[in-house]
Amino acid sequence: MTSPVIETLLPKTTTTSVVLLSGGLDSAVALTVARQQGSVKLALTVNYGQRAFANELTAAKGLAAWANVPHQVIDLPWLANLLPTGMQAAGASHHDLPTTGADGLSAVWVPNRNGVLLNIAAAFAEQLGANTVVFGANADEGQAFADNTPAYRQACTAALAYSTQNHVQVWAPLEQMSKRDIWVKGQALNVPLHTTWSCYEAAPTPCGVCMSCQHRATTVSHNV
Ligand SMILES: [Zn+2]
Repeated sequence: MTSPVIETLLPKTTTTSVVLLSGGLDSAVALTVARQQGSVKLALTVNYGQRAFANELTAAKGLAAWANVPHQVIDLPWLANLLPTGMQAAGASHHDLPTTGADGLSAVWVPNRNGVLLNIAAAFAEQLGANTVVFGANADEGQAFADNTPAYRQACTAALAYSTQNHVQVWAPLEQMSKRDIWVKGQALNVPLHTTWSCYEAAPTPCGVCMSCQHRATTVSHNV
């Protein structure tokens, strides 16, 4: 048996995609870019027990409806048991946890989350005949998390050439962009950015304290 050929790491001219849609800024803009580039077969929102899931789902449902793409929720109850306390539904508040530096990163790290989610999306992509999986990796988070880097995305594509019959590719259209760049692009594309949810907490309004809220506050001149 011969090894599969590793296809180009760039997206095909016309993509048919499955998009990971958390309901945050990055995935909202990534979804919109993917829709521009081709056809989005499905947007997936994953419930892995994160505290902010209800808010994320409301945002994701609205964005999928706005983009006119099918939307599905995937439940991963087993992953809830692996979450850091700051992300668990009944865990400590982010107000009581470090939000900067290495400790802050550890407080929001979910074991192999992007690896798990990309492989789930790739399974749907193969079944739907889609050639691409899209996620919202970006340059800012790539500096902190190895699974947001182009190298990781390329490695995933290489692995999927072995584990999917149609050689699904991973595409991170925002991977060279800062959060600020993404915000500006989202505005240019008329993405309803005010409906996206970034906060790790479950409150009716963003907490303004957690790492994600801090990143968002530095991204936009007027936090919405
Ligand atoms: Zn927050």
